[in-house]
Amino acid sequence: MKQPNAVLSAIGTTVFTVMSALAQRHDAINLGQGFPDTEGPADLLAAASAALMDGRNQYPPLTGVAELRDAVAAANARFYGLAIDPAREVVVTSGATEALAASLMALIDPGDEVVLFEPLYDTYLPTLRLLGAVPRLVRLTPPDWRLPRDQLAAAFGPRTKAILLNTPMNPTGKVFTAEELASIAALLRQHDAYAVCDEVYEHLVFDGRAHIPLMTLPGMRERSLRIGSAGKTFALTGWKVGYVTAPAPLAAVVAKAHQNLTFTTPPNLQRAVAVGLAKDDGYFAGLARDLAARRDRLAAGLRRVGFGVLDTHGSYFLTADFAPLGIAGDDAAFCRTMTEAARVTAIPLSAFYAGAAPDHYVRFAFCKRPEVLDAAVARLAAWLG
Ligand code: PMP
Ligand code: GLN
Repeated sequence: MKQPNAVLSAIGTTVFTVMSALAQRHDAINLGQGFPDTEGPADLLAAASAALMDGRNQYPPLTGVAELRDAVAAANARFYGLAIDPAREVVVTSGATEALAASLMALIDPGDEVVLFEPLYDTYLPTLRLLGAVPRLVRLTPPDWRLPRDQLAAAFGPRTKAILLNTPMNPTGKVFTAEELASIAALLRQHDAYAVCDEVYEHLVFDGRAHIPLMTLPGMRERSLRIGSAGKTFALTGWKVGYVTAPAPLAAVVAKAHQNLTFTTPPNLQRAVAVGLAKDDGYFAGLARDLAARRDRLAAGLRRVGFGVLDTHGSYFLTADFAPLGIAGDDAAFCRTMTEAARVTAIPLSAFYAGAAPDHYVRFAFCKRPEVLDAAVARLAAWLG
């Protein structure tokens, strides 16, 4: 028989699903896959329930319900000073995952090169390869994950179509600085390339740092596609409501990708997310403050039991170095053993690399209740004796 698609046949089930299944099998505390262990805001849940009951359950408009497109445009203005036309410059998708695929579909022709940073989120490379793009990987290195400007410049060339930029970054928790973004913007202008900006953690930034959308830099408004996710902003990861903000000519092509992928996204969830985006500034500040406290709690606990803990300034995640524990084996083996013996689960950092990777780091999710983080640390302390 002829073989099914080569790219998809060659990849395994996502590490997040694999590790969550392992956690379940061993009744482990799951600090692997990034999802909160509490419900999102009660007013959003109420809005979604109410919106099921008022007779708007048939196909919503292709690019999203007007309420949510308006809310996305208003949030762009409120948080970043961006003037966005809600009718022509917003496309609502089924999660940021679809937004990423649709944005890349909208840009890429086979053979186009796309620059991206490693470590990277696990859907990026398969999606690019399915589209026939040639990935140009630029590696960030721990402990500070600073932008290697020369290597980045060397990754750009005449065939560069786009950069795929994730800030705040999963898994590193890096928040790109204004200077780093300025040097990326200069390369995009020089090479006339686009930017697909995965900003799903835009509101999860700590330590007084600011999330800066690349789109706000000079010359970037017309060449950036900015992606957000209600899953992260409202701690409702199962809802899968995402949104792309892009200049009208690009948004029109993203809409064509969306019409061929899912066409629309459940209308009640869209309407509830519109309620969420209109919440006052206190909600967004409180979300970040609360997560920063959880980060500090887990980081202190991990340090107490002997891990090295790297700085993280955004996202749900921190990176820990288990080399100081003196346990033999690579990061994948460590995560398996920790799940089985300590009953705490994390993600091996090598899962975020395409090639040879550092093998002594793991990613912990801290978007869990404080008592759950404490219980995880207590289990680790007992295991490590
Ligand atoms: N990008 C990054 C960097 C992520 O961590 C996630 C997490 N799930 C996504 C995209 C996908 O978001 P969504 O669940 O909205 O599809
Ligand atoms: N983004 C989440 C993470 O990095 C997982 C999403 C998924 O399981 N596909 O943990």
